[in-house]
Amino acid sequence: MESDWLLAAQGLARDYGGRRVVADVDLRLGAGHVLGVLGPNGAGKTTILRMLAGTLAPSAGRLAIAGIDLVERPRAAKRHLGYLPERPPVYPELTVDEYLAFAARLRGTSRARRAAAINAAKADCGLTEVGRRLIGALSKGYAQRVGLAQAIVHRPDVLILDEPTAGLDPSQLIGVRELIGRLAREHSVIISSHILGEIQAVASHVVIVDRGRLVFQASREELTRHANWLEIGLAHGPDTATLSALPDVAEVRETGRGQWLIRPQAGRDIRTALAGHAVAHGWGLHTLAARPTSLEERFMRVIGAGDDAKRPRT
Ligand code: ATP
Repeated sequence: MESDWLLAAQGLARDYGGRRVVADVDLRLGAGHVLGVLGPNGAGKTTILRMLAGTLAPSAGRLAIAGIDLVERPRAAKRHLGYLPERPPVYPELTVDEYLAFAARLRGTSRARRAAAINAAKADCGLTEVGRRLIGALSKGYAQRVGLAQAIVHRPDVLILDEPTAGLDPSQLIGVRELIGRLAREHSVIISSHILGEIQAVASHVVIVDRGRLVFQASREELTRHANWLEIGLAHGPDTATLSALPDVAEVRETGRGQWLIRPQAGRDIRTALAGHAVAHGWGLHTLAARPTSLEERFMRVIGAGDDAKRPRT
């Protein structure tokens, strides 16, 4: 399999009780990439991430981490992986330091390097002050930081985070999201969520999972190329040429009677000026909105379908 990818999966599938719950998953993760895995509850995100992390055997397909086949050489491949499962293994009776020492040993960090590795992971995750506290006595936000620290303690190339903000209250959420943003700048990351904005904030590449299949894949560049259009609706509008001649307008497309899509010049926000023109000329402005990106459109369709389609859940 190609070895220039930090992670390469081909045709991954997983069956439960004769039912194929995940099928045909092809994924690539390059250095510096942050791959967001988006999907509604039950779509198959956890099943996919567990296969990628080597904690669940695929029923079919191939997977290599840093060019090493995960099925043939799991120990060597897993050295390159850090994994925060949906439900992190909690050892409430251990202190943060004891747990991180255990995690470092498990991941093959040599005794000589262990103390420095633990200190670095604690510093990265804002845990320096709580090393001696029992994990059971920490808030959920801090417990999640410990989960992130155990995932990075051996400095893996690839970090796999399964819904890392699920169940956090709003104040804890902010801190953990900031932490993930920082980790994402230093690692190649695969992160799952059912929250669109969370993935948009960090991901360089996005996939949407629906009923066990990847139904959409795009890079940030592909997504932004589609973004930035404004939808405008005018009851007594002018013609397309008049709209095209307005300052900072790059392109205008008529989409219906009295409706247009307008693409501003790169980096320009023309909404206020556009509304001002419409009012000054009595164009009868009734709609002015940013057009959803292709990711938003596709995600809404998947979520919408989930409301009425009978989504099998066991
Ligand atoms: P959530 O966000 O709710 O965790 P998810 O997108 O991570 O959802 P998965 O947990 O991967 O989804 O589940 C995908 C499908 O596989 C679901 O239909 C689920 O019922 C099924 N499934 C998962 N684990 C098992 C299992 N151990 N035995 C049988 N079916 C399972």
